[in-house]
Amino acid sequence: MGTVAIFTMPTNFERSLSAHLLPDGLCYHDFVDAVPIGLYGNDTRGDCVYVNQRACDLLDVSFDEALGLGWSKRLHPDDKARVLDSWRCAFSKREPWQEEFRFVHRNRRVVWVLARCVFTFDETGENTGSVGSLADITAQKDLEATLGEVNQHLQNLVNLDGLTQVPSRRYFDEYLVKEWFRLQESQQRMSVMMIDVDYFKAYNDTYGHVFGDRILKMVAQTIERIVKTQTSGIMARYGGEEFAAILPETSREEVLQAADAIVTAVRELDIPHEGSDVSERLTLSIGMTTVFPELAETPEGAIHEADIALYQAKQGGRNRAIAYSEAMGESATLEVPPGELA
Ligand code: GH3
Ligand code: MG
Ligand code: MG
Repeated sequence: MGTVAIFTMPTNFERSLSAHLLPDGLCYHDFVDAVPIGLYGNDTRGDCVYVNQRACDLLDVSFDEALGLGWSKRLHPDDKARVLDSWRCAFSKREPWQEEFRFVHRNRRVVWVLARCVFTFDETGENTGSVGSLADITAQKDLEATLGEVNQHLQNLVNLDGLTQVPSRRYFDEYLVKEWFRLQESQQRMSVMMIDVDYFKAYNDTYGHVFGDRILKMVAQTIERIVKTQTSGIMARYGGEEFAAILPETSREEVLQAADAIVTAVRELDIPHEGSDVSERLTLSIGMTTVFPELAETPEGAIHEADIALYQAKQGGRNRAIAYSEAMGESATLEVPPGELA
């Protein structure tokens, strides 16, 4: 037959625990120190009056050090205010409490815990204190951090073009749709630029594909620098030796200025190009358009207009930037003259 084992805490905590039947030789201490989670109890003032061995280990304190507010000395400085505030808030309302936070051990090891607490009441409804648990979630937090880093890395792989390290076509497509709807709402203009390296096949034929790759990277990063410093838009590698830029809230004149700055910056790279029919240096052709998204049909329509302007720039002799106009097909307007770009 089993004997009655009384749970004798070394504090006044035992008052809140009733006696239960346990098998021979077992007492509650065996259980509370065997469970893999920390357990603690607080009195009606919120002061800690009991911790089990596991809680002492998680806190890296002795039983006596944990009592009162002693346990809070191990709180991570960045978590301390948040944890104590939310605990006080739960305490004042006698509501169940739960938080994730860190303890810092004496050897500086950081342990993440999930802490829970519920309030206890006697038969008259009077609060008798609170009891809670501490679960070690360090491994889970470490895994979450690793997954976050892996996700960020994957995101970078998807959003960055491998060769040139500028934004990818995928990033461009997503940004275009997002900005299109934003500007539609605010009834503002968007400019789109299509940029193509002139006679790049001939460049590869003359200097080799590997060297061509290096030049493509240089050109891409030059375009990115201008777009970043002179506009609030983005550029991307659109495909092959072609790049594209989206310039939100930009007028026709502003996009022409940006195009001029890009052409000038690439010219200043001073890359010899013997295979070019238009210059001794590597040059670009740019087509651009400026639309009001609420009037224009689709983002693809804007790309198409910029493409038509790019085609005009190529047809007109390359090494130039041309803005799309309604009359295009018959004649192009707002051209940066090749003389200025040579
Ligand atoms: P155009 O002035 O009419 O644009 O002439 P182009 O030679 O630049 O145009 P075309 O479309 O005939 O050829 C594009 C060239 O760009 C051919 C291709 O090998 C080269 N190219 C595309 N992607 C890459 C790349 O990643 N690396 C290198 N080195 N070359 C590339
Ligand atoms: Mg080309
Ligand atoms: Mg091309």
